[in-house]
Amino acid sequence: MKKRILMLFVFALTLQMQAQTNTGNTEKLPRVTILATGGTIAGAGESETKAAYTAGTVPVDILLNAVPQIHELAKISGEQIAQIGSQDMSVEVWLKLAKRINRIFEEDSADAVVITHGTDTMEETGTFLDLTVMFDKPVVLVGAMRPSTAMSQDGNKNLLDAVMVAADPASQGKGVLVAMNGLVFDARDVTKTVTTSTSTFQSRNFGPIGLIYDGKVNFYYQSTRNPSQKFDVSKATSLPQVEIIYGYADASPVPVDALIKTKVKGIVYAGMGNGNFNAPVGKALERASKEGIVVCRSNRTGAGRTTLYNEVDDAALGFVVADDLNPQKARILLMLSLMETSNRTSIQNNFFKY
Ligand code: GLU
Repeated sequence: MKKRILMLFVFALTLQMQAQTNTGNTEKLPRVTILATGGTIAGAGESETKAAYTAGTVPVDILLNAVPQIHELAKISGEQIAQIGSQDMSVEVWLKLAKRINRIFEEDSADAVVITHGTDTMEETGTFLDLTVMFDKPVVLVGAMRPSTAMSQDGNKNLLDAVMVAADPASQGKGVLVAMNGLVFDARDVTKTVTTSTSTFQSRNFGPIGLIYDGKVNFYYQSTRNPSQKFDVSKATSLPQVEIIYGYADASPVPVDALIKTKVKGIVYAGMGNGNFNAPVGKALERASKEGIVVCRSNRTGAGRTTLYNEVDDAALGFVVADDLNPQKARILLMLSLMETSNRTSIQNNFFKY
């Protein structure tokens, strides 16, 4: 009898100690705020097997409760910033996100931020935040290619991975990251490469910087380019208008002339090869440049750098080049640069530094 009482006592003591340890651990967990914006990760379809669905219909609390394991990795809080398919992402939401994240870190109300996002424009939001979040703390974007109701949905695992990456101290000081499909990318470099595949995110020039496996992230590379240059958007309510024009054989100057008439502040030209254009488009871009519009040559190939003075005399035409940024990322850096200056040398330097 005595022995049984002793065993019970020991058992109760062990339970209490365990509970204390757990409480202690919980208190030590990093604080991760999840900012939800919509996308497929919050999408719901009518059937487990059909592809059709509506993006951005599942609210943040349901999204978070669907992956209880994240609460073992971090103290989680959630906020709904938007509820859209990311094809509807806008400068307005970007500014809201950047301001909110800067405020969260300023007030020290979280150690890291995860953003749930549609995959269509995730690379653009990532680049924008990389350039406008003033803190070194982890910011991780995540999404899904299959809606939460699909049989083989990828969102839950991606979200778990993203929280794990955000909670890992090794993720600090690496700029904004994208965690998708077991890989970690520098937001500056990553791009969506396939319309429907779960392995759609790639960094064509440099590859992923980390691998996620068995609940752990291992980092292998770090960009030397991105962390230094930031733009203060705390007072911004809009950004200078910059549009993209796509290059192709026998293209006409009509779109460039339309943008000159619209008085845009910048044009990113997604040129052929190393940012090339045919003669009529070249003449129109020269007209734009003379009107004070900053013309930035990028390219439509999907990889590599757009380099100065290859077949184009950029100095004579007053053009800048996007270096290795694709057109949609170059547009973001050009908009942010134009907020501060219209000096082409300074803008070109921004492209070479970022
Ligand atoms: N087009 C939607 C979006 O980007 C759904 C695509 C996705 O999230 O994968 O939000």
